[in-house]
Amino acid sequence: MFNRILIANRGEIALRVIRACRELGVECVCVYSTADAGAPYLDLADRAVCIGPPPAAQSYLDIARIIAAAEQTGADAVHPGYGFLSENAHFAEVCRDCGVEFIGPTPEAMALLGDKVAAKRLAREAKVPVFPGSEDAVETDDEALDEAEKVGYPVIIKAAAGGGGRGMRIARTREDLLAGVERARQEAKAAFGDGRVYIEKFLESARHVEVQVLGDKHGGAVHLFERDCSIQRRHQKLIEEAPAPGLDPRRKDEVCKRAAALIKKAKYHGAATVEFLVDEKQNFYMLEVNTRLQVEHPVTEMITGVDLVRSMIRVAAGEPIPVKQRDLKRTGHAVECRINAEDPARSFAPSPGVITRFDPPGGPGVRMDTHAVAGYRVPPNYDSMIGKLIVHDESRDAALARMARALAELRVEPIHTTAPLQLELMRNSAFAKGGVDIHFLERLLKK
Ligand code: ADP
Repeated sequence: MFNRILIANRGEIALRVIRACRELGVECVCVYSTADAGAPYLDLADRAVCIGPPPAAQSYLDIARIIAAAEQTGADAVHPGYGFLSENAHFAEVCRDCGVEFIGPTPEAMALLGDKVAAKRLAREAKVPVFPGSEDAVETDDEALDEAEKVGYPVIIKAAAGGGGRGMRIARTREDLLAGVERARQEAKAAFGDGRVYIEKFLESARHVEVQVLGDKHGGAVHLFERDCSIQRRHQKLIEEAPAPGLDPRRKDEVCKRAAALIKKAKYHGAATVEFLVDEKQNFYMLEVNTRLQVEHPVTEMITGVDLVRSMIRVAAGEPIPVKQRDLKRTGHAVECRINAEDPARSFAPSPGVITRFDPPGGPGVRMDTHAVAGYRVPPNYDSMIGKLIVHDESRDAALARMARALAELRVEPIHTTAPLQLELMRNSAFAKGGVDIHFLERLLKK
């Protein structure tokens, strides 16, 4: 096991990793920008090192400063959390070159799965269902037109190196396609330094279902079932749950097994998520592989009883996956709400500032992962998530009722949060029925 882990992140996920380190008996070092100086979670680390000013480019994204902090504090591993450098293959490589274990995949496995064209090719080989569309990046306009004719309009043009929803274009006609391919190429070149684009079928309506997987350094790979994250606004997830309601169990089990086979094929170790869109006929199509821990990992922890953060640290230290596939069972239903400091009544305007009152909910089956406390100042510089409220109960209906109860207990003043909207959703009959699509929330907000 490691002696000392440096946590290259902030906020709730830094605290989540601190907790895992404590339980494993490993020391931990937090890095922070001056915007986070004095944040209470830093006191729970063994050491905290300031790495720069508020802009992430000069702190949480600054590889040299993070490596310097690791060397200065004698850390033998780095946990990247999610966001920031977590999917940066160059960072993983620098860690390796400096003799610090990156808690996640090798830079090679990360780069392979991070390239959407390469990941799709590997997925096909592992019999993971993918979207109909081009096998490779499209080079010419004629190739693009051919592919689009083959799969049928509408199609979506995507950047091979894409991420964060950038560089995507929907095309409903030939004209759209020709204009879109050109623009997508330019956008991808500017954003990722890689102009390769490919084409796939566009689904007008779909659910977002993703599979949690975990691999080790001995070729082991397991899946920890699926999550449904269809409640989204502008591609940002707001509510996640596990299991995904209303799916044919045989079909989803098959997809979960395939997802595990995919990471095995990629010689992947660490936690990963294989994301899918699912159409009305319950056909799965792989979107991408996220080569890191996800924000919504707690719902999987709640239904399986597996601590994903501890597990990823253990596999990074060379241990085999702590559980066998056949011993993995899911129990009950879990739901997570991302509590963002945003005002849903004012188009989700950020609502930073000092929290004067903070009462997290409690009671049976309730977990709140948050770095916020009364007196905490939400900095305006980063993601607006101030915590995640997670509940677990014996059935989906019970979990929704428990979440409504917990949301009503949560008091955050005077800043605005997304909690009132999430409470409304817990009482929405269509959501309660289960199986809403990824546009459901946006339709509801338009009403
Ligand atoms: P990124 O890595 O940029 O987030 P993704 O491939 O994950 O890109 O796609 C982001 C979002 O775009 C998806 O969550 C989905 O809402 C939408 N999307 C992507 N591909 C398709 C598709 N083939 N059909 C319909 N929607 C899609």
